[in-house]
Amino acid sequence: PCTDFDKAYFQSYSHVGIHEEMIKDRVRTETYRTAILQHQRHIEGKVVVDVGCGTGILSIFCAQAGAKRVYAVDASEIALQANEVVKANNLSDKVIVLHGRVEDVQIDEEVDVIISEWMGYMLLYESMLGSVIVARDRWLRPGGLILPSNAVLYMAPVTHPDRYAESIDFWRNVYGIDMSPILPLAKQCAFEEPSVETISGENVLTWPHVVKHVDCYTIRIQELESVTTKYKFQSMMRAPFHGFAFWFDVEFSGPANNDAPSAVEESPETTASVSHRRKRANPDEALVLSTAPEDPPTHWQQTMIYFYDPIDVEQDQVIEGSVTLTQSKENARFMNIHLEYASGGRSFVKECVLR
Ligand code: SAH
Repeated sequence: PCTDFDKAYFQSYSHVGIHEEMIKDRVRTETYRTAILQHQRHIEGKVVVDVGCGTGILSIFCAQAGAKRVYAVDASEIALQANEVVKANNLSDKVIVLHGRVEDVQIDEEVDVIISEWMGYMLLYESMLGSVIVARDRWLRPGGLILPSNAVLYMAPVTHPDRYAESIDFWRNVYGIDMSPILPLAKQCAFEEPSVETISGENVLTWPHVVKHVDCYTIRIQELESVTTKYKFQSMMRAPFHGFAFWFDVEFSGPANNDAPSAVEESPETTASVSHRRKRANPDEALVLSTAPEDPPTHWQQTMIYFYDPIDVEQDQVIEGSVTLTQSKENARFMNIHLEYASGGRSFVKECVLR
């Protein structure tokens, strides 16, 4: 059923600004276009569904790559604009815009390809992946292609002295006035909830931990309701530890190659490093859209969870704990975060909501 939350959500996508931001994110948009060209032989002459087409950009890329038919589906009013764009580009014979929820529209044929740009902040925020799963289970023919094919959510401990100074230490001396009584409020307002911001590779204290692997071909909706992982980091430097960063990447691999088992499956030494990937013909050549701090920034930035006070860690000091991401009951598009962390003999719990 379409809830009021859904209505507000689709309403938010009726504004041009949000589409402009996504389209102007060249890392995002060009990686999708490259992926479409890279898989052109699976798209040419084939039927495609674009789950959440927005302005229609990915549908049109697919039509340009030779798709026979593209169903461009979007529940937001932006679908009306997509339809006009399709007409203006003389693609009405190929791109069929369906204004409705993927869960509600009717498509009377099997499709060869599903393309979607479903990723939210921290990958799973917005929980639009569920709609991709619905489309897959309803329409994708066996052996069909899903772009992107898989995703990985990462986390890592970070140090960010500049951010802390700017939001917190600032209150210690304001035009010569001691405003430190405001510190607790400043900490609460700055760090109570997660924030989306761009950090750099230099802020990261050590190698990231994989929170969740998503294989778009096999993932089930139930797996997304709650994700829990235990982590253990070892800081590579001595630094004030301010919180955790979360980011993701998605991969555009070809369809599963069942009849030709790949080398990856057979050699145990290499399995560990690529174990999150499906056993595909050429996993090493897969195109990746990364939102990592060390890579060029995207509109997703990184999602930060800061502590109220930094923890001083030594080089090699262990940071361990667990994190649980749960779809909010109040609004399934929100995400509740339960974070437990311990270091240097002290342990903490933090609960927050990405809304
Ligand atoms: N594909 C476009 C837009 C991506 S944004 C691009 O790459 O630029 C995601 C879009 O998916 C939004 O326009 C939103 O309205 C739509 N969407 C999300 N969930 C949907 C659902 N269940 N059914 C139809 N459209 C959906």
